Amino acid sequence: MSQDLYDLLGVTRDADADTIKKAYRRMARQLHPDVNPDPATQERFKEISRAYEVLSDPQKRAAYDRGGDPFGGVGGFGQGAGFSFTDIMDAFFGGAGATQGRGPRPRVRRGQDALIRVEVELAEAAFGVDREIRVDTAVVCTTCHGDGAAPGSRPITCETCRGQGEVAQVQRSFLGEVRTLRPCAACRGFGTIIPDPCRECSGDGRVRSRRNLTVKIPAGVDTGTRVQLTDQGEVGPGGGPAGDLYVEIHVAAHDTFTRHGNDLHCTVTVPMTAAALGTTLTLPTLEADVEQGADSGVETTFELELRPGTQSGSERVLRGRGVPGLRGGRGDLVVTVIVDTPTRLDPRQEELLQELAALRGEEQPSGQVRPGAKSVFGRLRDAFNAH
Ligand code: ZN
Repeated sequence: MSQDLYDLLGVTRDADADTIKKAYRRMARQLHPDVNPDPATQERFKEISRAYEVLSDPQKRAAYDRGGDPFGGVGGFGQGAGFSFTDIMDAFFGGAGATQGRGPRPRVRRGQDALIRVEVELAEAAFGVDREIRVDTAVVCTTCHGDGAAPGSRPITCETCRGQGEVAQVQRSFLGEVRTLRPCAACRGFGTIIPDPCRECSGDGRVRSRRNLTVKIPAGVDTGTRVQLTDQGEVGPGGGPAGDLYVEIHVAAHDTFTRHGNDLHCTVTVPMTAAALGTTLTLPTLEADVEQGADSGVETTFELELRPGTQSGSERVLRGRGVPGLRGGRGDLVVTVIVDTPTRLDPRQEELLQELAALRGEEQPSGQVRPGAKSVFGRLRDAFNAH
């Protein structure tokens, strides 16, 4: 303890008792082990508590101001006095435990939330799906109906604490005599004892169980979206109310479409001749993935018209053909066109292309050199890397 005690509490040397007390309380609340169990924070909590121990006592403070060893011969806090920080803080801050009891802690408590991950296809995420899932959670024990006592028996009042769940304990500390109430060891603070615990659940009032559930996954979910199912989580101790179940969505990769937010992207390859002459392509929609009735009226394909002279790497944006948003609206479909240059030509094809090149004066093309950043190939590369 080499650090200045006033510095530790962030007060000046002439601070009055009230200021010191306030400073300590403020810091103790932040550093309290119940709030922040991290070891470094606990160490700091001990330091400020020891500083307060000295500076709150006029005699010790005077001795410290004269340059004396503040901890010489001082018993008490921080030196194995044998009570917990919580006891001290409760006493100091007038916590419920100090003066009047909290009473027995309830056997029946709310259960925890549960999380399950579910993989869905892109179309299912886009248009919604009902998915059957298997969950394994705690449910109410049907043998004891949650109270934990074997059939025919019942919990009895704890004799040690007379049902209070707590027993009083008096200890001396640097703050004076501290009366603390500790949880009763005999009943673990419940105030009641189950003399004959239910064999099925060992007195916990709940057992683990697997069951099937149908989850309604709404249209527009994406990887990471969590669907909340109220009261489908873990049943609490003593058969207490269930927590919630969260179903976390993971969207599987699609063969054709990649998703960026609510937009879909895909790439279509067309022959060089079609790109030059223009054409109309018939492409599958994402809806085609979903099983539809014969007369559902859902379009499983759409037509994409390519103008004559379509360039490789050019993009076509089809408004409203993307993924529906969770909050309405619908994203776009972005189609990137790639022009396929033939790799094998038979003699006749080669002859025709030579003739075409001659007609166009392209037998000896010079090639147009442009800055790379915005070239067709740069854009293409970006498009691929983005996937
Ligand atoms: Zn039971």
